[in-house]
Amino acid sequence: RGRLQLLFYPDYNVSAMELICPAADLSEQISTAGKEASGTGNMKFMMNGAVTIGTLDGANVEILEAVGEENFFLFGLTVDEIPAIREHYDPQAIIDNDRDFRRVMRLLDNGHFNHFEPGILDDVIAAVRNPDDPWMTAADFRGFINAQEAVGVAYKDQKYWTRMSILNSAKSGRFSTDRTMQDYNRDIWHLNPIVPGDK
Ligand SMILES: *Cc1c(COP(=O)(O)O)cnc(C)c1O
Repeated sequence: RGRLQLLFYPDYNVSAMELICPAADLSEQISTAGKEASGTGNMKFMMNGAVTIGTLDGANVEILEAVGEENFFLFGLTVDEIPAIREHYDPQAIIDNDRDFRRVMRLLDNGHFNHFEPGILDDVIAAVRNPDDPWMTAADFRGFINAQEAVGVAYKDQKYWTRMSILNSAKSGRFSTDRTMQDYNRDIWHLNPIVPGDK
């Protein structure tokens, strides 16, 4: 209704990414800590001026380091916190203790989002409630909602948001191929670089 458009872009590929990436204001990088090896989509969004809402996972860690916490919407458990919490991880208790989470689960359970495809979300619902869920998704729910609310407030302050956006682009140089190759060479390959033009 003139407020929010949700688009589904079929056949996602690099040509699509060339359009999506510069158009994005917010980059949602919500893999739970320890589960994403790196992520490169997050770097592409950063270079193109999107601000990241994300966990301390993969290359989000380096993005956060580059831009600082004031220019990044951080949420979720850290890798160090996970083992202790996993021992008594009880997603149903987390759901029961959070009004919003209860409402979300009720809608999912009622088939609100899949009237015409009954059962299609059952695996997702079961994964959220599974005490052995390797991703411990439920543990990050409240943090994600809070971070998303902070995003909503920040986005209304256009000057502040624009500043964050510019700083994200400006700090993205560390993800250049040149810097990456130089690091690999210094730490692993130990090759003599060839200066272009030298024989
Ligand atoms: C960047 C990109 C990926 C990889 O995205 P990740 O965030 O690193 O998982 C996959 N497909 C396309 C088309 C891309 O542009």
